[in-house]
Amino acid sequence: MEHVNIDYAAMLQDLNEWCAINSGSTNLIGMAQMHQRLFEAFKPLSDNIESIPLPDVTSISMTGELTSQAAGHALLIRKRPHLKRRILLSGHMDTVFGVEHPFQTLQQLDDNIINGPGVADMKGGLVVMRHALQAFEQSTHAHTLGWDVIISTDEEIGSNASNSLLMNIAKSARAALVYEPAITPDGRFAKNRKGDLKVTLVTTGLAAHSGRDFDKGRNAICYLADIIMSIQALNGQREGLTLNIGKIAGGTALNIVPDKAVAQLDIRLLYPEDEVWVREQLNIIQQQHQKTGYSLSVTHRYDRPVKRVNKPTEQLFTRLQTLAQSHQLQLTWEDCGGCCDGNNLAQLDIAVLDSLGVRGGNIHTSAEYILLDSLIERAKLSAYLLDDLARGGLETIY
Ligand SMILES: [Zn+2]
Repeated sequence: MEHVNIDYAAMLQDLNEWCAINSGSTNLIGMAQMHQRLFEAFKPLSDNIESIPLPDVTSISMTGELTSQAAGHALLIRKRPHLKRRILLSGHMDTVFGVEHPFQTLQQLDDNIINGPGVADMKGGLVVMRHALQAFEQSTHAHTLGWDVIISTDEEIGSNASNSLLMNIAKSARAALVYEPAITPDGRFAKNRKGDLKVTLVTTGLAAHSGRDFDKGRNAICYLADIIMSIQALNGQREGLTLNIGKIAGGTALNIVPDKAVAQLDIRLLYPEDEVWVREQLNIIQQQHQKTGYSLSVTHRYDRPVKRVNKPTEQLFTRLQTLAQSHQLQLTWEDCGGCCDGNNLAQLDIAVLDSLGVRGGNIHTSAEYILLDSLIERAKLSAYLLDDLARGGLETIY
């Protein structure tokens, strides 16, 4: 595929329109608008396009209650569904910026930089995906390769609702391409990614009047404090494994011995076996702290397994590097602490590249930006890769 036609003005228009819509993970109205825009944008490229209702997401709130939250509709877009030679492309339409967040508008900082919510993570990536597919469909080999696109609504809150859909579709794919942004402004790809466990601890004790009946009370905050100090002490025991006690809440009025307290933890893992270790340690701590009149519950909010690159992934990245080189582009990859749907996909025995989106930076902050010259560069890169896979590249990764 020598000549790839990418319409930069159309890319820029998509970027501006899509980023102007607030689609924070919990903003279902904005998400529905975003869903509609994407539906219209991808429909002309597809043979089949479906809105898939996602199950509600349940979690434990900081008051210790079980809450459930609607997750909206994912988009499933299919091309040549009859073909066995298939690849998966995935992305998410949600951002970390809710309706109440002050960061809502786009601002052009210079000729090459736009600052705005989701410009890099990952509405810019969705723009790249759309225009790469459009270019690929012009290739004379396109008819030999089927593709499925899944765009989810809950990636930024752990993909609990969309994960089974993603994994199901991925089963019939030889390779998965995820449009998360490059991990550095110069375009580096993510290699191995750390895993992430989100854990909620809820302790209960017994409420009592702090003046009249102090001795009858059982203080759930103090009980929780003991437990989290034991958890904190696990830091430094295994290479690359960190446990961050990020949130804590408990108590009502000052004159009541508190009967409930809640903490939330973010645990990052370097190796798959760390997960077994950390679960064992949490069990041991739970056993050691058993105390009459108190209770502790440990709930996993969501888990992203560790991603270690497998042979098919290495082969696919090498192919991409070679393709890039023939277009004067040097690609490298390195390990990354952040995680994404690529972590889940990497549990299957397929090739997974998960930073095919734009170059930019400061994601998840009000300083998020995109480097505009990466729009065409990355769309071409994906179009070359798709064409290469269609021409027989797919059979060289196994
Ligand atoms: Zn993302």
